[in-house]
Amino acid sequence: MIRKTISLLLAALLLLSLLSASAEEEVSAAGENRICLLCGSEYPGGACDACGAVEGLWECFDCGIRNCLPACSSCGISRQDSVRKTAACGNLLLAYPAVRYLAARQDAAALCALAGYYRSGVILPRSPESAAACLEQACEKNYGPAFLEYGRELDRGDFLEKDPRHALDCFLRAAELGVAEASWYLGVYYAEGVVVTRDDARALEYYRLAGEAGDPDSWMSLAWCYAEGRGVERNIETAVSWYEKAAEAGSAMACDYLGYCCMTGELVPRDPAKALEWYEKAAALGSARSMMALAVACEKGEGMEPDPAQALSWYEKAALAGRQDALEPLRRLSEKEDD
Ligand SMILES: [Zn+2]
Ligand SMILES: [Zn+2]
Repeated sequence: MIRKTISLLLAALLLLSLLSASAEEEVSAAGENRICLLCGSEYPGGACDACGAVEGLWECFDCGIRNCLPACSSCGISRQDSVRKTAACGNLLLAYPAVRYLAARQDAAALCALAGYYRSGVILPRSPESAAACLEQACEKNYGPAFLEYGRELDRGDFLEKDPRHALDCFLRAAELGVAEASWYLGVYYAEGVVVTRDDARALEYYRLAGEAGDPDSWMSLAWCYAEGRGVERNIETAVSWYEKAAEAGSAMACDYLGYCCMTGELVPRDPAKALEWYEKAAALGSARSMMALAVACEKGEGMEPDPAQALSWYEKAALAGRQDALEPLRRLSEKEDD
């Protein structure tokens, strides 16, 4: 008897979920214009006004084949999965139609991504209002990364209007939803007394929380608290061990800073050879500052014999990573090379 009741209940629940799913489909199909999966344009139905693609046409992310049916005729991937892969591919131009398509269906990650388009002005015109609207919709879905992104924008204030109080709320909500970096921001707000009363001990706790939740740079902030004696008794040894933990966890900033410490003798005994090891790790993690430091070390022969060819190569990498100050030495050394 009980079993029967349970199975009836399950059947009813299943039916309900099916009904609500199809209702959702209908809303997105009838209420909104369709989004072309080839060009990302909105059109009322039939064929895309912009590129002429017939309704439902999509391109498989994996094999590039165009399909009309819900599964790829070559590899069998579903349209939905292919669209998700495309939206997450990291190439702004390629991802755009998929992002628009998913955002129109209220997908939180896609709404967040769409806000990024409105911010960068790539494809879509720059629009703070539209970006904020996208982020708000994504937040309504309780999507943690949207709260983090919204908080960051409100904190920076160079695109959306600066609003630290609202930013703080966003960071709190994102942290609740398990976004590690949000706890780091909370740490900064308490350390600097932004909107809240300055509380170094609390800042320290937030940094620790963020580090434990997987934000490697947060161990660096924790190390800084120990090095400066903020919220805790000053302890250089502990500070260095936290810097090393940050470096191990993949913080480029921490590797770079440890390189700097070894090169200058700050916090640790001077050791140029060791400094180069840290700089190389940081450079591999994308630190332009470390690329520059390596270039200078190679040119001047710090911790190694001078090596102009190697210096030239690091200056070039640093310039490509955005270091303006690498351009002049790059020109100077390449002229020497030409002689
Ligand atoms: Zn189109
Ligand atoms: Zn395929």
